[in-house]
Amino acid sequence: MKKQENNKSALSVSGGVPKPDSINQEAANRFRSKKRELPTSDTFYRGIISGDRMILSQAITLVESSLPSHATLAQEIITLCLPHSGNSLRIGITGIPGVGKSTFIESFGSYLTSEGKKLAVLAIDPSSEKSKGSILGDKTRMEKLSTDKNAFIRPSPSGGSLGGVARKTRETIILCEAAGFDTVFIETVGVGQSETAVHSMVDFFLLLMIPGAGDELQGIKRGIMEMADAIAINKTDGDNLEKAKLAKAIFESALHLFPTSESGWKPKVITCSSLNMAGIPDVWELIDNYKYATQQNGFFQKKRNQQGLYWMYESIREELHKHFYLSPGIENELKKLEQQVMNNEINSYLAARKLLDHYFHTYNLK
Ligand code: GDP
Repeated sequence: MKKQENNKSALSVSGGVPKPDSINQEAANRFRSKKRELPTSDTFYRGIISGDRMILSQAITLVESSLPSHATLAQEIITLCLPHSGNSLRIGITGIPGVGKSTFIESFGSYLTSEGKKLAVLAIDPSSEKSKGSILGDKTRMEKLSTDKNAFIRPSPSGGSLGGVARKTRETIILCEAAGFDTVFIETVGVGQSETAVHSMVDFFLLLMIPGAGDELQGIKRGIMEMADAIAINKTDGDNLEKAKLAKAIFESALHLFPTSESGWKPKVITCSSLNMAGIPDVWELIDNYKYATQQNGFFQKKRNQQGLYWMYESIREELHKHFYLSPGIENELKKLEQQVMNNEINSYLAARKLLDHYFHTYNLK
């Protein structure tokens, strides 16, 4: 007991030694002031519009930052860039790990840049905080594209809720479009959480599959199949050719069971090989046909408008959520009430009511 009072427990941590002065004070000051001085929103804007990738990357870093000063600057940059955005074709790409997403993006992306397109490749991976940005994080996965001057690759923003990660990616799309990228890929892992977020920010949603052996639906949830504008059966090469034919027929009949979408577009099934490029140009033709058809019948713009509405509500939800959890005293109240709910001393509705009342009183809202 005495030991603990004296704070001599084996578990206590010593305060350590004070940080020594920097040897070169002048250099340290220079570094510090350099770190603090960020270009103005106008400088960012002009850099982005002129296609300066360094500036674009820096602006995306601001979008992803959790510092309030960065958030303000990021919003200013986005506002300036917005009138220059919206001109790209946004394509979502999903599929279970191992289906060949990065190989497909490398092949399909290189095909598009060889056709003169300017491609930005982004990702949404809400688990990336744990896995340190697994998707697109490892640039060696896309050796060719990462050195292609017409391609820009950016891994998934890490940290925060799926909503937060998705918002950052959406804002990054705006910046990339303003920088002149006419095609944007958004990769996500096909495990069922992030597809809805990706679907709500793309024009076309592509689901990658492999020629399955038996379980053709490969654990892909019905909801994800329903979102797909096309299914590409990747790895249609070598011994897989026959299996791919069968898988195509099975997917086609599965898709027939879904009601026709408002777009008037019937989802297609296509086969391709990211290794030998077979069918890769056909994937583009298909997406181009979709674009043409939906632009003709007005669905393309309507979908974007609906997405705008979705994001308006998402932004409100996210901001209110943040405001609530950061409001003075909430953290302590939360801890207290959490414990009471756990101990069955209060019911959850009453606990929520108390917390909300605390919040409303803080701002004289009730
Ligand atoms: P991801 O986890 O979905 O990104 O999948 P990867 O792109 O990392 O690919 C997983 C494995 O499948 C790798 O060994 C690739 O070489 C292989 N792969 C990808 N595409 C093809 C393809 O079209 N044909 C064949 N045979 N293998 C492929």
